[in-house]
Order: sequence, then structure tokens, then C-alpha cells
Amino acid sequence: MRMPRDQTPRLTISCGGGSNVWSGELHPRQVWGIARGAFDRIKSQRPYSYRVLLSKTIYFGDMGRRHANPLHNPLHYAAAQLKSGPPVTAAAAERALPMIVGAGAAGCVLASKLSEDEGASVLVLEAGGDNTKVLETKIPLMFSKLFHSDHDWDYYTVEQPAVASRRMYWPRGRIIGGSSSMNAMMYHHCSASDFDEWVSVHGCTGWGYEDLAPHLRCMEKFTPNSARPAIEAANRGNAGQWQTGYSWLSQIVEDGFLPACDDVGIPPNSDINTATGSLGVTRFQTFIDSKGQRSSLATAFLPPKVMNRPNLYVACGAYVTKVLFDRINNKKPTAIGVEFQTTQGGERYQVHAKKEVILSAGAVNTPQTLLLSGIGPEQELKKHSIAPVITNDNVGKQLKDHLCSNGVLCKAKTGSTLDYLASDVKAIPALVQWLLFGTGPLTSNVGEAAAFVRTFDHKFPGSAGVIPKNYTSGDQAPDLEIIGAPIAFIHHGEERPLDDANVFSLAPIGLRPQSSGTISLKTIIDPRYLTDDDDNDRKVLLAGLRLCLKIMRSPAFQKYLDPVPTNDDTSSYWWPYSCSDVDAITDEQLSRYLVERAFTLYHPVGSARMGQTSSNSVVDLECLVHGVDGLRIVDASIFPEQISGHPTAPIAAIAHKASEMIRRSHSVV
Ligand SMILES: Cc1cc2nc3c(=O)[nH]c(=O)nc-3n(C[C@H](O)[C@H](O)[C@H](O)COP(=O)(O)OP(=O)(O)OC[C@H]3O[C@@H](n4cnc5c(N)ncnc54)[C@H](O)[C@@H]3O)c2cc1C
Repeated sequence: MRMPRDQTPRLTISCGGGSNVWSGELHPRQVWGIARGAFDRIKSQRPYSYRVLLSKTIYFGDMGRRHANPLHNPLHYAAAQLKSGPPVTAAAAERALPMIVGAGAAGCVLASKLSEDEGASVLVLEAGGDNTKVLETKIPLMFSKLFHSDHDWDYYTVEQPAVASRRMYWPRGRIIGGSSSMNAMMYHHCSASDFDEWVSVHGCTGWGYEDLAPHLRCMEKFTPNSARPAIEAANRGNAGQWQTGYSWLSQIVEDGFLPACDDVGIPPNSDINTATGSLGVTRFQTFIDSKGQRSSLATAFLPPKVMNRPNLYVACGAYVTKVLFDRINNKKPTAIGVEFQTTQGGERYQVHAKKEVILSAGAVNTPQTLLLSGIGPEQELKKHSIAPVITNDNVGKQLKDHLCSNGVLCKAKTGSTLDYLASDVKAIPALVQWLLFGTGPLTSNVGEAAAFVRTFDHKFPGSAGVIPKNYTSGDQAPDLEIIGAPIAFIHHGEERPLDDANVFSLAPIGLRPQSSGTISLKTIIDPRYLTDDDDNDRKVLLAGLRLCLKIMRSPAFQKYLDPVPTNDDTSSYWWPYSCSDVDAITDEQLSRYLVERAFTLYHPVGSARMGQTSSNSVVDLECLVHGVDGLRIVDASIFPEQISGHPTAPIAAIAHKASEMIRRSHSVV
């Protein structure tokens, strides 16, 4: 319901310090106006012009010209597709560029690294828009405001029979920076054994922890925080461009959740980003910079000075529909460019690549683009009357995601959580603080702390004596994470808490799923959650829920909680927090609870995985697609196996390493 204009509450705001204190009464709309105005002013002070020079004609290969990124007019970098005439050939691609499809987490790193060499022209085609214009990508706590917006692919899975037959929402970033422009900024290197397993089990020599660690370090610029436990400087990067550090930590997390985890046998781990791994409970490090703004892979790797490079072209609003192959002049099909559209169903354009095409469109769109281009399982291509370029049964298969159970919602004491910030009106003082000082609760990333455990460890409660199997990647690796979030984490944070209560969410996530699913054409996303043969994925999450109930009862945490009336109705809002005897809860009850509102933790990987041969993978150890020339994949889809944590840092490291490979292989350096 909208409030009549004249009744909208005015806000009395005081801000500033010392002699600069300002105090006054404002209408919420005025504050938003000020916020937007301030944001625009900040932008206009930057050296890089945000205006697109539509009138300028740009020729590739013509070095030294001036242009502004991002480009929006396809005629600056492509030709309208011929309605008839000869098929495209490599010869036709003579004047064109190497190109990257998708300016997401991986694409931004690649674009930046590959264009470091002035002799290499790099074209990036991004379906979404310019991140610099979107305030919600800057303010850490506001990332969920991007859900269902123009900057979100807004995907849904097909019905998941094992998850109450629900179609589940999958946000994915459609904007420069991709999902790194809309994610929760949890900075995690994951376990060393996650990558060592890629080598030992999946034959991906060269992609182990020791191979990737230098890339993780050299990209990072870590800012220590004197209020947080000391970090061993030698373990962290301090010369890179990706800003990491510690941001807002709510009191209930610091003084409630963290000691409660310690109480139940989860020891503190001050730095989960070292070779010793994630086990323990930690205040999450984030990719939020010292000004309190998201440091996405776009802001880190495509800042104005990189965007101003004369050899880098970043085109927005260019949705790539397929890769073009030369099958006449070369024995092997050879990727020579792509076809793309700027509007759905609109005119198609072609742009050719002299060196190669790199797909970085993410774990959903990369396999989809391969299929549309004629690379995939024979039956799938046939079903959609797509002429095969090369068949490969692994395209779109072995998709793995992290499933988050319906979390345990605890009623917290008034004022101890951040739920009030969901109200545009109540959030205004925090917004003003963020705009003026870059501090305050809006710099929270929601997932402020997390515990990483091995559920089969006998000191944990297990699920009615059913101990999950050990599917971790190694002795120091977890199979479960519990995020402690000072907010109602229901329906991706989109649902307001009951009666505007303060809610603390304990959310268990299965980190080593044995269930795997598929991506197929017409964007059919089927992660097949909780379908593994021995039902281990469910057992892990049930053990996780029982552990949450234990944390919830710890005296350290209880002091931040308010009681609710006892209620044993499993469908009531506060259950299981409200139940009379937590120990009497059955596995069946917990299992129902788990699936009712379980959701993705947004980490799909593996849908075009890496391996030695086409019989079990899509790309080889150089990220080149098996069976064709000139086509590489660098993004989350090439993970040979799911890792036990948050993937942005590993994806960036993969892209960083791949950029060196690419430069070497094409003698770009
Ligand atoms: C809501 C949310 C929260 C998350 N929280 C965290 C977190 O806290 N920590 C963490 O480590 N990870 C987190 N993740 C996961 C992480 O952001 C992703 O795993 C990562 O960004 C994937 O990188 P990518 O390069 O594979 O794909 P993306 O970053 O998704 O980039 C793909 C890019 O390709 C573009 N594209 C796609 N198709 C086409 C096409 N046909 N033509 C042109 N362009 C195309 C897209 O628009 C996008 O820009 C989260 C993700 C989400 C969605």
C-alpha cells in the first residue's frame, strides 16, 4: 500500500561531526534525490567520460584512436549479418580482434590482463549494461535490490521434485562485472585440497593450489583492520588491484554467533584464506574497499584508466547468440567470431576474431552458447535442429551448485539486526552515513560470519545417528558451511520478517554436493538438487540444521535472542526456534523444513568442465574447447568439481592464470 503523499513521514537527520554537524527535516524522496545527485557528482569528477560517443566511427586494428568505453552502437565494432552470400571464412576475419564473450567475474580479469599489451586489441561483448551507473552495485548491503531488475538474468530452475517441487530463483548478474557486481562479496580462497583434487582426480595438471595461489595473491590488495584479529601479512596480497578487507560486523555476530560456534566445538579461524584452509568460524573477509564500496571484478580490473586504453573495446547490450566457425579453410572447425543481437529478436550482427573467441558468459550461458553454436550432445542439438559442429556429451552436464537449507530463524532482540534497513524510509540515515563517510551498516555484506565444518566429525550432532559420508576434498576441507546473517534470510532476503521482527538467520549450506544437474537449451536449468544415490546431500544439510539448533541454544547467543511463544506446528513462522523440545525434532520434520524454502547459494559450476579428453570434459588444460580451434572457455563452467566455498576469488585466479596462458600461446606478449 502506498502512503498518501502528505502523510509520508519526514526524517530528522543529523550528520557530520565537529563544527560540520548538519541537522534538518527531509522527505524520503528528497534524500534519495540527494543520494543520486551525490553519486552523479562523484562520477562526474572521474577522469573517464561516461558519455558514449555514438557519433565516432571506430575501426579495429587502427591503433591510437580515441574512444569511450563502454560502446553501445554495434556498428562501431560489427557488421550487420548478411542475409545471403558466402559463408563466413577465416579470410573474412582478417582485420578483426580476439574477443571475450561476457564481462563478468572472469571476463573483466581477462579483458584487463589481455589489453595490458598495447599490441593486442581486445573486444568484450557484454549482454548487460554499464555497472558504473548503478548505485545498487556500489552499496554493499543493497545487492538484493538488483534481484529481478534489468541487471539480473532472473533465471528459474525447472521444478525440483526433491525440493518441494519448486521452481527456484537463480539470480545472475547481467551487467559489467557479471555476478561479481551483485553478489555478497564474501572473499574466499577455499581449501587447498579443492584445487589439488582437480589435479589428482580430474587430471587437470597445472591447476592445483600451488598453481593458483600466486594468482590469488597478486590480484589482491588487502587492507588490515586494527579492530580485527591480526592477519599474517605474508599470507595475503597487498599489491594487487582487487580491494579486500573487513567490513561491517554486527555486535550480535561478534559477540553472539562467533562465541556460540566456539561453544559447540567450532574453533575460531582468523584467516580462512591461507593454505591451511577454512575449517573453523570466521569473520568473513569481503571484497569491499576502504571507502565502503563493492570492489567487484569490474571496479578492480576495469577502472577508468583501463577502460581508456585505446586497444580495449567493451561493448554493452551485445547478446551473443552463437560462435561462428570456419569449416572451409581449416580441417578442424575454427572459431572466427560471433553473432550477436542488441535486442531480442532484433537484427543480428557479426564480428570476427583474428586470434580467438573466449567464452566467459558464466555457468548457465556458456554451455547455452556452445549448444546454440552446434557444440553439445548430439540428441540435444538434433532436438533443436541445430547442425552439429562437434558433438560432446559433456556440454551442460555435471552442473553442481551449493544448496542452502531453509535457515533457522531466531528472534533477535530489537535493534540487534539489520532488518530495519529493508525499509527505504528507515534506511535513510544509514544511506546518508554511507554517502558522506562510506561507513555504517550499509557496508555489511549480510554474510558477516560463517562456520566451516566436517559434518561426519563425531563431535557434531549428526542427524538422528545418521552420519554423512566424507565427500570432502581433503583432511582440512569442510562439507558444510553455516552462515550467520543478522537479517531475515528468507527468499533471498526479499521477504520481510513477520511483524517486522528482528531476525538472525543460521543458514546451512552443503558444500560438496554429490547431486549434479544439467543446463540445456531454452535455458533449462535443472540442478537436480538432493538427488544423489545415497541421499548424502540431504544428510549433510540435516546435520547442518541440527548444528544450527545447537548454536542457537548456546548461552553466548541466547543473550541476544528474545523468546517467542512455544509452538510445535512445523509450518509456523518461528519453528524450529519456537518448538518445545528441540531434541525431539525428527529427521522427517527437519527434512520437510529443509526443502520448503531451500534456495541456491548462487554458485553453479562445472557445466563445461575441464579435463584431458572430450570423453569426460569440454575444455582441455589450456581451456580450449576439445575438437575445435580458436575457442576457449574461462569462467565458472570449467570447474572440474565443486569447491568447498565461495567461488569468485578462484574464478578470478583462473582467469588471471588463463590470461597468461593466452598471451603466451598467441605470443601477445
Ligand atoms: C546473488 C549472488 C551472491 C553471490 N555471493 C557470492 C559471494 O559472496 N562470494 C563469492 O565468492 N561468490 C558469490 N557469488 C557467486 C559469484 O558471483 C559467481 O560465481 C561468479 O561471478 C561467476 O563468475 P563468471 O565469470 O563465471 O560469471 P558471471 O560473473 O555471472 O559473468 C558472466 C557474464 O557474461 C554475460 N553474458 C552471459 N551471456 C552472455 C551472452 N550470450 N552474450 C554476452 N554476454 C553474456 C553476463 O551478463 C555476465 O556479465 C554470488 C552470486 C550471486 C548471483
